[in-house]
Amino acid sequence: MKNKPTTPRRQFIRNIGLAVGTFSLITPQFALTACTSGGNQEGAATGTDTASSSQTPQKDKLGIALVGLGNYAGGQLAPALQETKNCYLAGIVTGTPAKAEEWKKKYNIPDENVYSYESYDDIANNPDIDIIYVVLPNAMHPEYVIRGAKAGKHMISEKPMATTVEDCQRMIDACNENKVKLSIGYRLHFEPHNQRVMELGQQKVYGNVKNISGAHSFTISDPSRWRLDKKLAGGGPLMDVGIYVVQGACYTLGETPVAVTASYGKVTKPDLFSQVEQSIHWEMEFRNGIVAKCDSSYAEGANYLKGEAENGWWELSPAYSYGGIEGKTSEGPMDLPQVNQQARQMDAFADCITHNKETSVPGEMGLRDVRILMAIYESADKGGKRVEIEG
Ligand code: NAD
Repeated sequence: MKNKPTTPRRQFIRNIGLAVGTFSLITPQFALTACTSGGNQEGAATGTDTASSSQTPQKDKLGIALVGLGNYAGGQLAPALQETKNCYLAGIVTGTPAKAEEWKKKYNIPDENVYSYESYDDIANNPDIDIIYVVLPNAMHPEYVIRGAKAGKHMISEKPMATTVEDCQRMIDACNENKVKLSIGYRLHFEPHNQRVMELGQQKVYGNVKNISGAHSFTISDPSRWRLDKKLAGGGPLMDVGIYVVQGACYTLGETPVAVTASYGKVTKPDLFSQVEQSIHWEMEFRNGIVAKCDSSYAEGANYLKGEAENGWWELSPAYSYGGIEGKTSEGPMDLPQVNQQARQMDAFADCITHNKETSVPGEMGLRDVRILMAIYESADKGGKRVEIEG
């Protein structure tokens, strides 16, 4: 039997005004907002975004340029941009001429909208490009977001936003100074099962949340992957996929943890994991003693997010995949649609720009998460010492 949502979505959205007030004591900029996101429903204001829509001429669809034509750009974002309503694939930035040729043909991209990493700054003079989406290795996000902001374009950075808190701040500052919007590629904020978890946890549909657990792991066996290079990746599975569990715990509660503890797992493949961790376990402590127990690894598979409350429970498994998300609660299976997460995410951001609204997944959220990731590493480096999260 499929369970009916106990709190109808429309009622939930109506409740947001009240709830934001309540949660504003905790994490004002991120409380509950993701629940209104998706398609054109981007609603509640968040972040400190100061961009003005007057920079962006009124168009039916905004043009997006993808920077870095790797697996995620080619496998997910470009196909999603064939389904978007508010934006389209207008340009590309790549260091590989052969890829430029292939993409130009496949997606009908004109020559004048194709850039190399060297000619990237010239994008400032291209009215076809409204949004630049940086899909490069993690440590390269700051340079390309800052250069894009200086070119006057609205920016999306993939996760993790950067490999240091300072870099995240520089990215936010550059976007503010150039009056452009900045968003992070947090696609799951636009995914119905994950949105239902936000609703169940934040609205206390089953009473107060008692505990959370989650894991996101996959196996890497190719030693040449940049994900194993500390300089480019910033860290191992925690930076890459553990960040989804950090996000999951935070959006279950609509809060930021007050402290973390962490420990690295055993290294069984030292040839692969000489620079970044092979696996890590961490616990995030929230207000009222709620604890999220989390794991991430590059040496096994795992993909779930669970929550237990006073009068019920929920579980997504898989929780973080591009599709096929499955959810159940103590009342039965969640009866929710599969959607194109990336199409919704990019459409929502384009809508924010067109209507000068603030994104529910702003740079400030990316910075918060990198701060949490750094605290987790600090705890693991110090043998599991409790590290408080500032601010
Ligand atoms: P990838 O290795 O498949 O692609 C990286 C791209 O960057 C390639 O086109 C490569 O040529 C280019 N590049 C430029 N300079 C490089 C350098 N010095 N070293 C390596 N590559 C270089 O990686 P990916 O899986 O597409 O990941 C790219 C970004 O997207 C990462 O930040 C990752 O975390 C993020 N990502 C997000 C999701 C999501 O679901 N939101 C999924 C996958 C990846």
